[in-house]
Amino acid sequence: MKQNKNSNMKFAVVLTLVAVVILAAVVVFSNKQEALPTEVTQIDITGQPLLGEKNAPVTIVEFGDFKCPACKAWGEMIYPKLVNDYIETGTVKFSFVNVLFHGKESTLGSIAAESVFERNPDVYWDFHQALFDAQPTENHDAQWITPEKILEIASGFPEIDQKLLKEDMEQQSTMESVKLDEDLVREVGVSLTPTIVINGKMMEDPFDYEAIKKAIDQATKDED
Ligand code: CA
Repeated sequence: MKQNKNSNMKFAVVLTLVAVVILAAVVVFSNKQEALPTEVTQIDITGQPLLGEKNAPVTIVEFGDFKCPACKAWGEMIYPKLVNDYIETGTVKFSFVNVLFHGKESTLGSIAAESVFERNPDVYWDFHQALFDAQPTENHDAQWITPEKILEIASGFPEIDQKLLKEDMEQQSTMESVKLDEDLVREVGVSLTPTIVINGKMMEDPFDYEAIKKAIDQATKDED
């Protein structure tokens, strides 16, 4: 009886050890993943909107969609910190590439944003922000990106010529720029929005600001 109890004890100890080892391996593995963003290609942002100093050493590209709730949330939670900590200080220049994962509405929003970028580049980022602000917080799958809604948003910008914007939407005048963005999305292998790429490295979790800070610091060092 005594021996039996002992071997039961041994078995329990071994089992616990195995569990601890597995747990440690999981922790190490997931930490490793967090620390190493996926390498993608350096992104050619020629012809894309740019916020910040042209010669800033670090380039951050957001692949986003006006119809995507996570992109709106990212714009509210992470983007203002980036602007304050890195873009206004001249460390980071920021660009945005349209993703069309939500179909027709994504395409219409992108065509309109590209039109404003082409005709009124000075108000592009404010218009971009206004589009995200207009995204409903509930029932966001329901249609909301319509030509009427876009013109209503544009009416807040005296610089924007409503007639030309309407024409651009009807004739899909900026489709070429939208296609260029689609090519980038394919090239980089974007499968989720928002996808954040920092000097050619894709972030595992776009909402992990600590990891973003680390990646920017690393990228700054690499550029020195
Ligand atoms: Ca673009």
